[in-house]
Amino acid sequence: MHKLWIDNQWTDAASDETIAVIDPATEAEVGRVPAATPADVDRAMRAAQAAFAGWRHVSAAERAELLHEVARRMRQDVEALAVTLTHETGRLLDRNRRYVGWSADVFDYYAEMGRNSRGRVIPSVEPSQLALVLKEPYGVVACIVPWNYPMLLLTWKIAPALAAGNSVVIKPASQTPLATLALARCFEHLPPGVVNIVTGRGSTVGDALVTHPATSVVAFTGSTEVGQRIAGLAAERMTKLHLELGGKDPCIVAADADIRTAAMGVAWGAFVNAGQVCTSIERVYVERPVYRDFCDCLAELTARLRVGSPFDPDTQITPLIGGRERDAILAQIEQAAAQGARIVAGGRRPPQLERGYFLEPTVLVDVPHAALIMREETFGPVAPVAPVESFDEALALANDSRYGLGASLFTHDPTKAKRFYEEVKAGTIWINDPLIDNIAGPFGGMKQSGIGRELGEEGLEEFLETKHIHWDFEMQPKPWWYPYGET
Ligand code: NAP
Repeated sequence: MHKLWIDNQWTDAASDETIAVIDPATEAEVGRVPAATPADVDRAMRAAQAAFAGWRHVSAAERAELLHEVARRMRQDVEALAVTLTHETGRLLDRNRRYVGWSADVFDYYAEMGRNSRGRVIPSVEPSQLALVLKEPYGVVACIVPWNYPMLLLTWKIAPALAAGNSVVIKPASQTPLATLALARCFEHLPPGVVNIVTGRGSTVGDALVTHPATSVVAFTGSTEVGQRIAGLAAERMTKLHLELGGKDPCIVAADADIRTAAMGVAWGAFVNAGQVCTSIERVYVERPVYRDFCDCLAELTARLRVGSPFDPDTQITPLIGGRERDAILAQIEQAAAQGARIVAGGRRPPQLERGYFLEPTVLVDVPHAALIMREETFGPVAPVAPVESFDEALALANDSRYGLGASLFTHDPTKAKRFYEEVKAGTIWINDPLIDNIAGPFGGMKQSGIGRELGEEGLEEFLETKHIHWDFEMQPKPWWYPYGET
């Protein structure tokens, strides 16, 4: 039975209640973690608050070395961490090995950025003054993480938060807490209380973290609906928020695009991690002259994909996280079909796989814009496609959404490319290479897809507060202080 990681010690939760962790590929229980209570959150917050007092003053060089050591330990532990991730997420083992490597890279990246972080000296308005702009850590950061990339998305928060001098309390998703707890091994060399991990339900642990008086920042990745709830709770104390939320990313295929290349790119962008990526391609608009050819090509490529166990190296499509999620996706597919869409690949549970939350990768064509599958997040291996009569229409449809996370385009035409990145309201734009990642570039959403940015320089800035110092080293009365005469 797992425990909570508080103040560099494994500790029991206040309650005996536990949460089962289910392997999505087998539906077998693979672990149990404590369902922590607000009292446990309070213990973790106090430990983090006490640790912050010392951690913020650790020299930048020493802090950088400590964070590089986290990365070294993660790389040493890659196999065990990847196997644990595969059991709890159902994602391909080999891909999880790479995600552990990328997560370690994030620590190395922010170790150096933290070491080089600086404020500035600005021109003072008086000759006897020094004017400084300082960047300071906030305090304790509550990090709430979803299940789709439990380790990678966690490191996007904690690496910059720690590099900036904050301490953290982590709440992993209830479906995927095991690799996060295993990661505690990589934090043992840090001062006690700098990193704490509390498992439990969002409705109790999440709420307690957001409303705790010691929480200085809430860094949350998850659905827009939970993000909205957190924003409401945080408003009470004006707690700083960093929200990475849902998306409904559009992809446009222009008439000049190479059709097979575009179809392969869409198959990647829509089906990687079984479509459970916040920036998955969730709707595709294809210019009419190439529409039929594109649909045929995408259907053919999709029908060839192999669905199966994440431990089988020949598998290409792994299971969804749960049965409830699969049912919701099947309902969206059925509804779209009832509104006139045609299923040209997949669209059902794979009959050969009796256990596991599998769903065949699915292509829907002629999908009306009003269908829910074109409007609300699907978060599954589904590519709904619609024709457009012009590039203008494609841009208008791409922007007709409450979300603004990512957007992609296939074209050789620089005029279309420029219009696309200027006019589409989204935090990340991909032209001819959907979903490519770059640690050095900021990631985040516009509109209801979020507030703030992760990764890049912006990712560190989120965890630093700005302070302006006016220091007059000659204490002299100024003529404007008391221009009323002494008598
Ligand atoms: P979710 O249901 O919003 O849960 C995310 C996290 O919030 C989990 O740890 C969850 O805990 C916790 N939580 C639930 N209720 C809470 C509450 N009232 N207060 C505080 N925390 C609470 O999202 P999900 O289903 O795990 O993840 C999928 C969503 O995340 C999708 O919408 C996806 O687009 C989005 N996402 C966004 C990004 C991005 O960078 N923009 C990246 C990845 C995913 P429990 O697990 O215990 O419920």
